[in-house]
Amino acid sequence: MLIVMELGATREMVDKVCREIEKAGLKAHPMPGAIRTAIGVTGNKAQIDADHIEAQLGVKEIIHVTKPYKLVSREFYPEDTVIDVNGIKIGGEALVTMAGPCAVETRKQCMIIGEKVAAAGAQIFRGGAYKPRTSPYSFQGLEEEGLKILAEVREKFGMAIITEAIDTEALKLVSDYADIVQIGARNMQNFSLLKKAGRQPRPVMLKRGMSATLEEFLMAAEYIMSEGNHNVILCERGVRTFADHTRNTLDLSAVPYVKRTSHLPIIVDPSHGTGKAHKVIPLSRAAIASGADGLMIEVHHDPANAFSDGPQSLLPEKFDQLMKEIKAIGAVLGRTSP
Ligand code: PEP
Ligand code: MN
Repeated sequence: MLIVMELGATREMVDKVCREIEKAGLKAHPMPGAIRTAIGVTGNKAQIDADHIEAQLGVKEIIHVTKPYKLVSREFYPEDTVIDVNGIKIGGEALVTMAGPCAVETRKQCMIIGEKVAAAGAQIFRGGAYKPRTSPYSFQGLEEEGLKILAEVREKFGMAIITEAIDTEALKLVSDYADIVQIGARNMQNFSLLKKAGRQPRPVMLKRGMSATLEEFLMAAEYIMSEGNHNVILCERGVRTFADHTRNTLDLSAVPYVKRTSHLPIIVDPSHGTGKAHKVIPLSRAAIASGADGLMIEVHHDPANAFSDGPQSLLPEKFDQLMKEIKAIGAVLGRTSP
């Protein structure tokens, strides 16, 4: 339910409506807009008397939100959410690029790649310090040592840092070091992790689960937002299908769907979405053309010896070429690039 307040509704009127909602055992989310204030209502434990709310001073109308997700939906919040990460805007006119290796391997590796991707125009450095691997015998990540290396990359190249929290234990440390917390595909429905991510201060990038419908994806984002953290970035990274020419099937139709039904920014990850470096550039172009707010790209200076995801990692020169193309495609759509 969404309560739309009159143009001239005062702060006191908004507060009174919020109190009435909370009295009924529900949560009120006042959302001051450019023209008028709306109040979102969430919670399913109690029923609210809509007539009683409608009769409150300053209430213009009540809109019944048809979608199961509330805070995530455009019905609740019509304007695009723009997330500010150290001055980098995600979800506005400007395109954003997150780039770096799959895993933080060594300090030297991150410095080499960081320098190259920063020079090509990437604003955010990625790299896993905790790696969710299919095999328990594969490299699992450098953990806190990796987070320290990421912090050094931020210092040296003036980039923001995104890295994955694979569990609630890692979340605390990741939140201390990183600018954006990544929740991976395998954890998209780890509801206790989502709730905790909603209670820490950093923006969260939530990756789509490998077999998640878009409704499930948006409901997972709702978990984070319902705990108070409204800075959620969605990431389409491909889903599992019968296709065997590609690691996953990158579902670019998710982009216009999300843009229509939600106000949250959406980033596309063609690296995990395809699993093959030669497919990353064409699908990055398509992602920007489809309206994505930016890209997450794996880049490695020595893919053949990468600890993980070498076959899908772009060489820095290819990444540089991609950034030039993205700039041109974005410009056609009125998007700016660094
Ligand atoms: C990653 O981005 O490092 C990653 C593991 O991706 P995903 O969760 O999409 O598989
Ligand atoms: Mn990877």
